[in-house]
Amino acid sequence: MSEPPSVPVLCNESWESNGLESYVSYVLRNERVRPSVTWSNWWKEAQWGRFSLIMIIPPLATLYACFTPLRRETAIWSVVFYLMSGMGITAGYHRLWAHRSYNAKCTLEVVLAFLSTAAAMGPIIWWARLHRAHHRYTDTDLDPYNAKRGLFWTHIGWVIFKPRCKHGRVDISDLLNNPVVMWQLHYYPWLVLLSAVIFPTAVAGLGWGDWQGGFVYSALLRLFFVHQTASCVNSVAHWIGDTPYDDRHSPRDHLLTALLTLGEGYHNFHHQFPMDYRNGIKWYQYDPTKWLIWLCHKVGLASHLKIFSENEILKGEITMELKRLREKQDALTWPHPGSSLPVLSWASYQSQAESRAVVCITGFIHDIEDFLEVHPGGRHLLLKHVGRDATSAFFGGIHDHSSAAHNLLAMKRVGILRGGVPHISEEKLVPPSERLRVVHINEFRSSNVVP
Ligand SMILES: [Zn+2]
Ligand SMILES: [Zn+2]
Repeated sequence: MSEPPSVPVLCNESWESNGLESYVSYVLRNERVRPSVTWSNWWKEAQWGRFSLIMIIPPLATLYACFTPLRRETAIWSVVFYLMSGMGITAGYHRLWAHRSYNAKCTLEVVLAFLSTAAAMGPIIWWARLHRAHHRYTDTDLDPYNAKRGLFWTHIGWVIFKPRCKHGRVDISDLLNNPVVMWQLHYYPWLVLLSAVIFPTAVAGLGWGDWQGGFVYSALLRLFFVHQTASCVNSVAHWIGDTPYDDRHSPRDHLLTALLTLGEGYHNFHHQFPMDYRNGIKWYQYDPTKWLIWLCHKVGLASHLKIFSENEILKGEITMELKRLREKQDALTWPHPGSSLPVLSWASYQSQAESRAVVCITGFIHDIEDFLEVHPGGRHLLLKHVGRDATSAFFGGIHDHSSAAHNLLAMKRVGILRGGVPHISEEKLVPPSERLRVVHINEFRSSNVVP
């Protein structure tokens, strides 16, 4: 993670869509994908520099901490510097450089670059390039932290092991022209040493004389925590939570992830609207990174905060709500449509009414035999209308029945009267539960009623 990367490549792919094959499948067809990491090959596949930083230093630091008393000032400083370096990643690496969700004054860029380097998560340009590939090729093998490879891979596997194939190409020309980004790339190893180790240790050492505590807690263990929590954006945020804006891919919204990642847990929203400077858009959602950017804007350090149109955001929300409603709708039992029922003449209806309790309402014949004893108005009223047209009686002639009664009546359809009943309004013909339905566009097309 502390190794400087090779200079990233611009998107110069000569591929052009022929309308049949996607770019992803084209690239993967021509790319060698490395075999999965297993217990027998992991040591050959590990990137040992990063592996040491993530897997070996934290346990050693924990052991060292057992012999290092934790002073109150050092504990507070470690938490404060953890938040500062974490915010450097969320407000800097992620929302500023990877997504350009706002503009930052040079002073703010330099401060964010210094603080985020203290998280030792690779140079800005490397991180932002992979993150742009993650958004562009989500859940495919061109996504560096493809969620389909499992929780371990998305959490730290992709960092400590060699990539399984070349990451998807993206445009990073803006970052190549950014002097702060290139300055950080140039001095990256030295900046990591200064910001992640020397600076926090020196604050504790010069501030209250706790050099050893500063080194163990605010440098090493803080680094371990910031790595683990920041990685949750790639792992936990693609694993648990809801999909309130889209469910085609794995990103999810969850409060737990937001708490762990300084507000990056509204990941379903973020993948749909990546250039929005916010992740949590509701007033009650925990997004301190958004609050920091907003504060920087208020004091003149940030400008051009990008916000997606509320209209488009609501379209995503309503689409998912309709999908959920459709699932509920499909789980219910609905009345037989008229086309599936036998057509009876008035005479045939009359003869059936002699042997069982059937009643005609709105042109449908209903079998009410099992309802005689539970009818709130009593058995007698129902029997009075057997073999007759009870439409007027049902709709106010005797009692103006409730919507629930109308819905239930429709479930008792057993036939349809030839010729129907004259003067039936749409409101009486269609039960209230069927007047507003969720219908897919394909169903419209198959019935040729699409505009
Ligand atoms: Zn993601
Ligand atoms: Zn992102």
